[in-house]
Amino acid sequence: MRQKLNIAFDADDTLWHSENHYHAAQDAFTHIVAPYGPGAEQALAALHEIEINNLASFGYGIKGFVLSMIEAAVKLSGGALRAVEVQAIIDLGRAMTIHEIILLPGAREAVLRLAEDHPILLITKGDLMDQQRKIRESGLAEYFSAVEIVPDKTPAIYETLLARHAIAPERFLMIGNSLRSDIMPALALGGYAVYVPYELSWAHEAAVELPTAVDGRYHEIASLADLPELVTRLEQNLPESR
Ligand SMILES: [Mg+2]
Repeated sequence: MRQKLNIAFDADDTLWHSENHYHAAQDAFTHIVAPYGPGAEQALAALHEIEINNLASFGYGIKGFVLSMIEAAVKLSGGALRAVEVQAIIDLGRAMTIHEIILLPGAREAVLRLAEDHPILLITKGDLMDQQRKIRESGLAEYFSAVEIVPDKTPAIYETLLARHAIAPERFLMIGNSLRSDIMPALALGGYAVYVPYELSWAHEAAVELPTAVDGRYHEIASLADLPELVTRLEQNLPESR
């Protein structure tokens, strides 16, 4: 019998668009603070620095992003930010929680096809309510055997997840758009990883280098349309399980 991989998908910017909404909000943010003097580039740099500093306190997702925009706006305005501008920033965040879920090309087909003969995990980080809504509205929820919404995607957290689902790391395949959160941790544990770059990336991703020396466990595809065939090929070449 053919060996099978245990497949896990990232959600945001892998199955559906997400970062485009962050970029649009950031753009609106630069307009809100522009009257206080900073150009767009300076405003975005300040926001990014504050976002990174706030990750440990507020985590990933829209709520932390909104708090970081407010904090950056206070700083960029020298404390002169008006309540109406704070409200405008909160409204940007609220709009992000109700946008329509638009699947990426090939996402639905790949999930349906692979779910026919694989249990499929969804592993995502961010605000619990926001992630739950997106999964519900994606139309894909019924195809996942389990959904894990985690505070961060570190090797240690993946290790805990694999243990809980009784998945051997060398039979694990993670598919995602983030080298930092999806690809590197899976490879570090000895698993497989398929990188599907998204058209936009968060500045936090920029510093990550592509993995090397991973013996055919790392692959990159342009679209999820290419995934089912790649999985078949990987499974044909899997070593016998011990
Ligand atoms: Mg992602």
